Amino acid sequence: MIIVLNNKITPEQIKNLKTYILKTGARIHESEGTEKKIIGIIGDKRDIDQMALEAFPGVTKVIRILEPYKLTSRNFHPKSTIIQIGNVKIGGLEPVIFAGPCSVETEEQIWDIARQMAKKGVNILRGGVFKPRSSPYAFQGLGKIGAEWLHAAGLANNLPVVSEVMEISDIELLYDYIDIFQVGARNMQNFKLLKALGKTDKPVFLKRGIAATLNEFLMSAEYILSEGNDKVMLCERGIRTFVEFTRNTFDLNIVPMIKNVSHLPIIIDPSHATGRTDLITAVSLGGLTAGADGLMVEVHPRPYEAFSDGNQSLTYEQMNSLLRDWSTIRESVITLRKKKLKEVEKNASNYSG
Ligand code: PEP
Ligand code: MN
Repeated sequence: MIIVLNNKITPEQIKNLKTYILKTGARIHESEGTEKKIIGIIGDKRDIDQMALEAFPGVTKVIRILEPYKLTSRNFHPKSTIIQIGNVKIGGLEPVIFAGPCSVETEEQIWDIARQMAKKGVNILRGGVFKPRSSPYAFQGLGKIGAEWLHAAGLANNLPVVSEVMEISDIELLYDYIDIFQVGARNMQNFKLLKALGKTDKPVFLKRGIAATLNEFLMSAEYILSEGNDKVMLCERGIRTFVEFTRNTFDLNIVPMIKNVSHLPIIIDPSHATGRTDLITAVSLGGLTAGADGLMVEVHPRPYEAFSDGNQSLTYEQMNSLLRDWSTIRESVITLRKKKLKEVEKNASNYSG
């Protein structure tokens, strides 16, 4: 529920209202930065009496929110979330580029990629050290030593790093080495892992499950936010369909949809969405034009030697070409982003007023 407050409400009236809400056992969520003052309440709807709330002095109206997600919703939090990591801002006007290998393989490999990516102006270095592989016989990742190399290579090149955690114990293991915890598609509904990540103070990169609906995706983010960590970015990495010429199907629709219904940043991953290097540039540019807050791509100096996902890894030259193509539309995309940002923030406050 959202309570829209009268502009002239007194601090005393707000205090009384909050005391009443808390007594019902509901949680209060206040958000700032909109023209109208609103209070969000989350709780069991059987215990909250809408009529009673509407009768409180200083309350203009009470609106029921139909979506199951609350903290994640733009109605509760009209302003877009910006996650700052060092000098990088995720969710602002400038789309952010994440790049790196699928897996950290050797010290030399990750250092070479880090140097090359920094030179190209990439913002964040990726590299998996715990790999969720479909086959138990496939390379499973280097674990801690890989994380140490990733950390050192990122630090030396001034690149924050992101790496996947597959289970709760990985959080502590990786904590000192990485800047962003990635949750892979296969773990999107590992609720215990999501809750544990909600208790950390580091940003989380949450990938969409291979068959997850929009509601399921946002409810997984809600698990993290409801434990206190609001630094969550979402990632569209393709879903499973009947299409056989690509590894997955990139769901372009979800990019502007997430901007409409949620304040969280949405990043696109055309590498996993397509599984083929010849489609990555087109899908990247399409997704960024549709409003994605960033792009994640897999890059490898010699994709044919990659321990994992070589088929979808760009060479340095292909990455240069992608970035060159991106630079030809970047300014127009930023102009579109400014327009969209105003529109979605305004619509959210309209809805709640
Ligand atoms: C990855 O990023 O390498 C990965 C395993 O991705 P996903 O979870 O989207 O398959
Ligand atoms: Mn991969």
